[in-house]
Order: sequence, then structure tokens, then C-alpha cells
Amino acid sequence: MPTEMLERARAEFLSVRGSGMSVMEISHRSKLFDDILGKAEKGIRAALKVPNNYRVLFIQGGATLQFSMIPMNLLSPDNSADHIVTGHWGALAVEEASCIGDINVVYSGGENGFSDVPKQGEVRFSQNASYVHYTSNETVDGVQFDYALDAGALPVVCDMSSDILSRPIDVEKYALIYAGAQKNLGPSGVVVVVIREDLLDWAPRRLPKQLTYKAYADNVSMPNTPNTWAIYLLGLMCDWLEEQGGTEGIEKVNREKARLMYEAIDKSDGFYKGRAKRSARSLMNVTFSLPTPELDAKFVEEGEKNGFSGLKGHRSTGGIRASIYNAFPLKGVELFVDFMAEFERKNG
Ligand code: PMP
Repeated sequence: MPTEMLERARAEFLSVRGSGMSVMEISHRSKLFDDILGKAEKGIRAALKVPNNYRVLFIQGGATLQFSMIPMNLLSPDNSADHIVTGHWGALAVEEASCIGDINVVYSGGENGFSDVPKQGEVRFSQNASYVHYTSNETVDGVQFDYALDAGALPVVCDMSSDILSRPIDVEKYALIYAGAQKNLGPSGVVVVVIREDLLDWAPRRLPKQLTYKAYADNVSMPNTPNTWAIYLLGLMCDWLEEQGGTEGIEKVNREKARLMYEAIDKSDGFYKGRAKRSARSLMNVTFSLPTPELDAKFVEEGEKNGFSGLKGHRSTGGIRASIYNAFPLKGVELFVDFMAEFERKNG
């Protein structure tokens, strides 16, 4: 998260908006918290340019709960859902959704080692699928769609957990967008769901209220006690993004950061080997490996000593993953590519 934003939260930590209480102490039914939640919602609406016929909901249970909550609410028992799997999280989404109904994997990047995404028009969808699900950015594998999937008349559902607010999107192309907050939206503990209003009444099966989108839509995202702290921080994060020029402004910085990173990989003559195919390279998670696992480990260790943390690739892929979410500064990337060049010089 951006330091300026954390400082703002610190300044208000003991007394939010001059109330004399921390946001974690006030009642979630108070006028003050109403305003805080309203501000977060307004922030998301403005940042994503959410049309009026969409609702913005704050839900707990992580993006992982959405893997099953989506089919519970949108998958008709008579039909299947089409899933495009381009990495670790998309595969988990299939596993969870399969507990609820029939899931049809219409594209799997498993054969290419999750190094690519399909091109627009490449995937054939089932005629009567309830919806199509895909993951716009695969956090572990470092592959990203650079377009909004067009599935014809079928509703499109997208997991944007790791690239939401990193670039402008056209919300109208989606029936439902969801994102765990802990990358570009703020802290963990809250998921943002943007859902087209007409889907709220679909209800293909009987569900406990707490697992329906309608319960969140009808109760201002508070069918029960929400994560007040996370929602408050999300509002501050939206202020920060606005100061960066919104998604248009941040996209420029994100593109420059990614350009520098991939340039460092490409000019290393194979010392650093990128994992994703060029056309599918993620602007958020840059994945690569060094000539041996020992060098990977050394790179992580020396990176840590130089102030670059979290470089170790996911346990399922190995290698290196450098995450450059919205809050990671361009200056940090410039220092990192210098570090990469120096490491190559010493070990290449
Ligand atoms: N989808 C994607 C793309 C993710 O990156 C993550 C978490 N990193 C998840 C889903 C799961 O999110 P959560 O931990 O909030 O359940």
C-alpha cells in the first residue's frame, strides 16, 4: 500500500474523522460508518466508472469464497459454466465451482505450462452455458489478458483480484467482476464484487441468505458485521488512486514499470528467462527464472539484502516473481533492474 495512504490512516487511527474513536470501535450501524462505507463505494464507482445498473458489494471470505459463491448464485442446475483456466487461481476456481455444479473447462493453459492466454475469438463457448469465467491476471504464473473477453451473448465473470484498478476497464463488458482487496485495493479481509443488477434476482437454487449477492445488495453490504477497517482503508486507497490520475494515470506508470522489468529480462541473453509468452506478459507479476534453482535461491537472498522482498516464486512454480502492483513506485523498479544487472554481472 502507498506510504502516504498508510500515514493518513495512522493520523486517524485513534480518532476517525474527529469522532474520538478508531474506525474499529465505532458501530457499523452508525451514521459515521455509513459515510465511510459510502465513500469507499463512491471511490470504487468513480475509479472503475461503474454504470448505474451495477451494484458494488463488499463481501468477506476472500476471492476464494467467490469461486463457489458465483456458481451458487449464477449457475443454473440445468446448465454448466464455461471456465478459461490460464493459471493457478483459475484452476482453483474450477475445483471449488465443481462442488456446486457442472464446470466445463473450455481452455486450459496447463499444456503450455500456464505461460499464455487465449486470443480473442480463439475459445469456443458452450451454447447454453450460464456464464463464462476467467482470470484477467494470473498472480502466480504472471500471465494477463490485455483485452476484455468477448463471449457473445454469454455473461462474463472475471476474477480481477490482482489487476483491478491497474488500468481502465469497461465494466459493461462484464456481468460480474470480483477482486480480493489485498493487492491494488488495500488490505485483505474484503472482496469487492461489481455485479449487474438484473443478476441479483436470478437465484437458481435455495441458499442461506449470507451466501446470496442479494443479501449484500439489499443491506448496503452489511447483512452482518462487515470488516470496517478494510472498508475504511479501501476508501483511502481510492483517494490515493484519484491523486495518481485514476486508472488512466496509474496505467501509464504500470506500463513503464513493466517495460523496464521485461527489458531487463530480454537483454540478459537468457540469464533471466521470462515465464510468460511475450503477448501474455503481466503488468503486475513479472515471473522469470535463472539458469539453476541454486541461482534462483541466491537471487532471492541477495534481493532481500538489497531491500527487495517477496521475490520467491510461488511454491507451485518455483523461480522468481516480482510483483509490481499500483503502489510499487517506478523508482523501486529502476533500482531493481540495476540490481538484476549487477547480479547477472557477478553470476552470469
Ligand atoms: N484469485 C487471484 C487472481 C488471486 O491472486 C488470489 C490471491 N492471491 C485469489 C484469487 C484468492 O484470494 P483470497 O486469498 O482473497 O481468497
